[in-house]
Amino acid sequence: MSEKTHIPQTDPFRWEGVPLLAYKEESGSHFKAITRQVLFDDGEHFDTQLRYFEIAPGGHSTLERHDHAHSVMVIRGAGSALVGGEVFELGMRDLVRVPPATWHQFRATAGEPLGFLCLVRRERDKPRVPTPSELAQLQADPKVGGFIRA
Ligand code: MN
Repeated sequence: MSEKTHIPQTDPFRWEGVPLLAYKEESGSHFKAITRQVLFDDGEHFDTQLRYFEIAPGGHSTLERHDHAHSVMVIRGAGSALVGGEVFELGMRDLVRVPPATWHQFRATAGEPLGFLCLVRRERDKPRVPTPSELAQLQADPKVGGFIRA
């Protein structure tokens, strides 16, 4: 994490000195083709982290929930998101609010990546994936069941 005042973009959606990381360190969660970059992580002055995630065309994030919230802004491409019981089409610079304890999953459209900024608390609980019975409950709603990938 750079401590510099100005961090120029070096390539599209890449920033000087900001490493390109795997989406999640631990395996076992379900996801496809996602990168993560931590843009701001200044624990001295902020209780938050700002990350940039990019989902490859046709890929998706983990179906998960947790006690912390996400504030998301789309800055590349297009896709869709499940938040709670609703599915939303996402366009450039749309905002998505993921409240605590709410199932969510992001998906890139077939032809384009989906890139978004995601603000979180620095101190936060680990995401949880659905148990088999929770998954069955989610799949019982046709709108939700038709969207999720788990
Ligand atoms: Mn999450």
